[in-house]
Amino acid sequence: MSEKRIVLKNLREDELKEFMVSIGEKAFRGTQVYSWIFKGAKKFEDMKNIPNSLKEKLAENAEIGNIEVELKLESKIDGTKKYLFLLPDGNIIETVMMDYGDRVTVCVSNQVGCRMGCNFCASTLDGLMRNLEPWEILDQIMKVEEDTGKRVSNIVMMGSGEPLDNFENSKKFLELVNEKNGLNIGYRHITLSTCGIVPRIYELADLELPINLAISLHSPYDVKRAEIMPVAKAYKIEEIVDACRYYLKKTNRRITFEYSLIRGVNDSEKEADAIAALLRGMLCHVNLIPINEIDEKDYKKPDKVFIYKFRDRLEKHKIPATVRISRGADISGACGQLRRKFQNK
Ligand code: SAH
Repeated sequence: MSEKRIVLKNLREDELKEFMVSIGEKAFRGTQVYSWIFKGAKKFEDMKNIPNSLKEKLAENAEIGNIEVELKLESKIDGTKKYLFLLPDGNIIETVMMDYGDRVTVCVSNQVGCRMGCNFCASTLDGLMRNLEPWEILDQIMKVEEDTGKRVSNIVMMGSGEPLDNFENSKKFLELVNEKNGLNIGYRHITLSTCGIVPRIYELADLELPINLAISLHSPYDVKRAEIMPVAKAYKIEEIVDACRYYLKKTNRRITFEYSLIRGVNDSEKEADAIAALLRGMLCHVNLIPINEIDEKDYKKPDKVFIYKFRDRLEKHKIPATVRISRGADISGACGQLRRKFQNK
């Protein structure tokens, strides 16, 4: 047996056909196997119109690639589901499913842990274990669909990890999830969130995929931003905004700026004014997220009145802004908290 067997869920349909040819089979076998995988086949034995000889050959050279549900929690407040998935190497990741009725959004993790070190975030407390493979990102969505019987319409790459720190695998994941005979989720329904790794934003823009870009801003001031997000020491806000303008030119997609409001840290109206000055004239909107308080840090969210004052101030400057209502609060819905609790046990 070869040491590193190929994982079929890492392949697009055309690549799977090529793979079949490379092991001496007809290309149409690739189409058949691809279709079985997306019908939910877990083992080669489940693939009915595939000859036994090919099944054996596949079992020798390849695996389908499956992550497993380790734990599932469902919010009594809003039906949000949170999954802990077990990876083949024993690592655990978390995935969130939000059902809004007219759309079903899945928030996928991109890495096991994270090395960006944002101060307020639970995912980064233990650093980065490893990158996720493209199929491990894809399979989070497949397993949620299988578990809920619902078709996922939207994806947010906002789970644990930094997608632009796992660029090649994220890029491949985007290709996989967009496959016609696969999950067939359109680029316009996908949002990639980044803490602002500037060169990679340009690289992403050059792919010219119409995915939505979200930037974790969290402060309009470089010095303060660097206090809460170490990555800000490497890239100035002005550079991020320039990269966003380039992204807009390439994709014509409205940029989202995420702004986690922390009481007494970044929630003054002066800061709202500075954000407005920074973003003036750009096709964008600001998503305000009252900080999710995590046990390890003493950051607090502002009182509701201040949150809405902040929003109103932005809107007064003609910057569209929304307050993101946190979902799944009763199931450690936010930002890497569940995995951490589970692993600490
Ligand atoms: N690494 C990417 C994506 C993962 S985090 C990024 O930085 O954008 C997704 C969003 O949740 C980011 O805006 C992040 O700053 C924010 N976030 C992380 N922990 C949070 C917390 N405890 N409360 C509120 N927002 C948080």
